[in-house]
Amino acid sequence: MMLPTHVLAGMLLAAPLVRAAPELAPVGFAAGFLGGLFPDLDMYTGHRRTLHYPVYYSVLAVPALLAAVDAPSTLTVGVAFFLLGAALHSVADMYGGGLELRPWEGNSDRAVYDHHREKWIAPRRGVRYDGAVEDLALSVGLGVPLLLLVDSPLRQIVIGTLAVAVAYTVLRRRLAEIAAAVIPLLPSSLDPYLPDRYR
Ligand SMILES: [Zn+2]
Repeated sequence: MMLPTHVLAGMLLAAPLVRAAPELAPVGFAAGFLGGLFPDLDMYTGHRRTLHYPVYYSVLAVPALLAAVDAPSTLTVGVAFFLLGAALHSVADMYGGGLELRPWEGNSDRAVYDHHREKWIAPRRGVRYDGAVEDLALSVGLGVPLLLLVDSPLRQIVIGTLAVAVAYTVLRRRLAEIAAAVIPLLPSSLDPYLPDRYR
């Protein structure tokens, strides 16, 4: 799934706070956004492995959530929803496409790395690839309820994220063709800095 879908899903995890602890809801939404974003910071180095932990984020999220319920504060709620967002992102990547330049071709057997079992999890392709039309539908489906739950400035962040989702979906296949055309022209000294799927 594309990054906008992940950050919106992370945010929506904090929806129960609107009722349960409204004063902490903005913290929860922001932490869910950041947790949904964080794993993909490994985009250029060991993508879906270096910062993706489908098992460990989930395991850590349990005590963090219990601590937040027991003693709600900016810190406990922030940590809990950050971990929940990162866990959901890492698990959700299993249900998308594989790691390859053109994931719609379905040639890769690597979706996300499971550090616990020390092996790659195969893509299940519920969403065929990041930026597929069903991925955009997911982003919109997550974004619309969020717009009803959050105020400024989070509302502007949701709107901006949805705009990125639309642009990425429209350009997705073209971006892969541009990458395929440009990368062979780059000096080989840049190789270590390129995502594996581009080599
Ligand atoms: Zn990811």
